[in-house]
Amino acid sequence: AARSSQELIRAEETSLAHNYHPLPVVVAGAEGAWVRDVEGRRYLDMLAGYSALNFGHRHPALIEAAHRQLDQLTLTSRAFHNDRLAGFAEGVAELTGLSMVLPMNTGAEAVESAIKVARKWAYEVKGVAPDQATIVVAADNFHGRTTTIVGFSTDPVARDGFGPFAPGFRVVPYNDLAALEAAVDETTAAVLIEPIQGEAGVVIPDDGYLRGVRELTRRTGTLFIADEIQSGLGRTGTTLAVEHESVMPDVLLLGKALGGGIVPVSAVVADRAVLGVLRPGEHGSTFGGNPLAAAVGSAVVDLLRTGEFQRRARELGEVLGDGLAALSGKGVVGYRCRGLWAGVDVDPALGTGREVSERLMAEGILVKDTHGSTIRLAPPLTITRAELEGALAALEKVLG
Ligand code: PLP
Repeated sequence: AARSSQELIRAEETSLAHNYHPLPVVVAGAEGAWVRDVEGRRYLDMLAGYSALNFGHRHPALIEAAHRQLDQLTLTSRAFHNDRLAGFAEGVAELTGLSMVLPMNTGAEAVESAIKVARKWAYEVKGVAPDQATIVVAADNFHGRTTTIVGFSTDPVARDGFGPFAPGFRVVPYNDLAALEAAVDETTAAVLIEPIQGEAGVVIPDDGYLRGVRELTRRTGTLFIADEIQSGLGRTGTTLAVEHESVMPDVLLLGKALGGGIVPVSAVVADRAVLGVLRPGEHGSTFGGNPLAAAVGSAVVDLLRTGEFQRRARELGEVLGDGLAALSGKGVVGYRCRGLWAGVDVDPALGTGREVSERLMAEGILVKDTHGSTIRLAPPLTITRAELEGALAALEKVLG
């Protein structure tokens, strides 16, 4: 007989590593903005796989692209060419305005790949002395979970106990151009930042910060790497979050929604002057650029080309922002919102982010806490206005 949610959660306790503390919901199916659990209860998904499900669960165009590709070819490795990869790369290039793509799988891999590319570029193009390249990153960053990446995290939970770490990183406060300027010198290969810090609680820098980073990196001959793995691909109301300040980084990191919530797809995107430093044998991935990923990724690019999802994020983002403004002082002590993406600081007297998330779950709304009493809202961009208003009403109820 099929096991109940309780039984499955208990089974996970003994047979799975405890590196997550999921909400006690066992999802068995989903469509659009809704998921259903093993017992058939329905929940509105206000997290959307940390933005991997920007187009909702099982978007018909993406499922169709995946089905079609499953019937043709799924994997070649890059030892051979496959007939889907060129179109995917061309699509991503056209969408971003940068000319070359390095396809990988997960976000952390894209970040690692960008670090390698930036260092190689520093030695071969900028002329940094061998093994002296540095990369400047921001405090409270989140770029993934590999040892190199957690080595420059400022979150003790992510970092402690996993050293020794790779050298070559300098951490400066986020949203502080003077500190950034002081940290950049002739050894600096790149500045790596999130245009909006997602895991930190959807922290939006002051207007002008990204323009300042662009100006500083250009003036000092340093690469600007924007990690848009969570902020990109429609979430903030534009294809890229850097568009809010009309800047283009030298290197763009994409992931999450690039795989349509179906397969892991990430990419390092840059012009030939940067990505051209990689030569055969110097970098790779068995699954990176596989035909199934390329087919789904191409379908994602096609969806974004319509502009519909960016527009929805923009318009519904106003509803979200207005709703949170109305809750200010009524259990909400602060919030940051851009497009369909918000970090909401709940009055700690009303509970931790985890407790609020559990109360919302009881109301049929799934969200995720970040730190302390902050919850993050990032619904699929396909959510309707009525569904979004329902989620806001549930939030008002659990804070009331
Ligand atoms: N970069 C950013 C900005 C992220 O938000 C994340 C994941 O949350 C990552 C990188 C890592 O992506 P992945 O979990 O696919 O390795």
